[in-house]
Amino acid sequence: MNRLSDRLNSLSPSATLAMSQKSAELKAAGVDVINLSVGEPDFFTPDHIKEAAKRAIDENFSFYSPVPGYMSLRKAIAEKLKRENGLDYAPEQIVCGNGAKQAVCNVLLCVAGPGDEVIIPAPCWVSYVEMVKLAEAQSVIIPTGIEQDFKLTPAQLEAAITPRTKVLMLCSPSNPTGSVYSREELEALAAVLAKYPDIIVISDEIYEHVNYVGSHCSIASQPGMIERTALINGVSKAYAMTGWRLGFVAAPLWIAKACSKLQGQYTSGPSSIAQKAAEAAFSGDQACVEEMRRAFERRRDLMFGLLDKIPGLELRLPHGAFYLFPKCSSYFGKRAGDRVIASSSDLALYLLEEAHVAAVAGDAFCAPDYIRFSYAAADDQLVEAARRVAAALAKLA
Ligand code: PMP
Ligand code: GLU
Repeated sequence: MNRLSDRLNSLSPSATLAMSQKSAELKAAGVDVINLSVGEPDFFTPDHIKEAAKRAIDENFSFYSPVPGYMSLRKAIAEKLKRENGLDYAPEQIVCGNGAKQAVCNVLLCVAGPGDEVIIPAPCWVSYVEMVKLAEAQSVIIPTGIEQDFKLTPAQLEAAITPRTKVLMLCSPSNPTGSVYSREELEALAAVLAKYPDIIVISDEIYEHVNYVGSHCSIASQPGMIERTALINGVSKAYAMTGWRLGFVAAPLWIAKACSKLQGQYTSGPSSIAQKAAEAAFSGDQACVEEMRRAFERRRDLMFGLLDKIPGLELRLPHGAFYLFPKCSSYFGKRAGDRVIASSSDLALYLLEEAHVAAVAGDAFCAPDYIRFSYAAADDQLVEAARRVAAALAKLA
């Protein structure tokens, strides 16, 4: 019997979480799997943040918080946005939720609905298209390839805009490509948007601090853009806090108010303890952020060097986030025994079974010719994973 709603039936499960789950199951069954599927820092949450959470428990932060989060946390976020991004937000414009994931979904549900189009440059993070489905709006996927550094050009943006366009999704640094939009590139996109003042931009900046090319730039800093940008960020990546589930949107008041209203009906404010931990993260010593960034940069260079040597994989050095996203379509049509590799999903499954390395197929990122490896793992794991991937791919003929 399937009595599920059409909305649910149309939804795909999260491929990143599914692959991670699969590799955890194999691990539990005794298989030595190296999990490069899910994107999360392998570091522990820094001690001063954990201490703040412990204090919050002892000080009885055990009651419902305001729906958009404690005022003290929203003030700390407003200060962060001023200090690091040069952006002026009042705390009232900030709504905290259960991760950047909920923050993105809140905004989409608040502003997009049936008949609306949401422009999504691809490759894109797995959840955007599915969230647009939840909103019952229409995704307009704009493919960008390795030859254009996976970045949306102003001409592509202009060509994709229709009278129904409601939202442009941007993600920089990008998951899964690691591309980072420069100030000039954002300026050029903003110049196109200036002609279409009703389009809202959702700017997902969760990888802000995992950046290897210098300072982060938000499209919200472009003239006229702060009035129609919903800036998304959180603590998952910068502070190694994926499990704490704390993210936020900073947006024009009318969007922030709407997100609060929505969230008040289905999850309320996020965890009180996670909020106090996040407050310590945003307002405390930032040395841990730079330490982890440097570690990711070193691992990027290590893993890039190893995968770039494998014949048939085409790579570009990513400038941010912690993923390598090689083009792997040269393997399509090849076989190992009876097994034919027809797609990136086949290849990801083959690598899991043959090499015991978990990666995520590009299909899930609207980029079927590619495959994603997270390098947020220990050096020896990366070296061993690359060795296994090379050996497994060498068997395909
Ligand atoms: N946006 C992007 C691009 C991501 O990769 C992720 C994955 N964590 C998120 C948002 C959600 O992050 P969070 O853990 O804060 O929900
Ligand atoms: N964003 C991470 C990833 O892409 C975490 C998993 C998820 O939420 O999708 O792997």
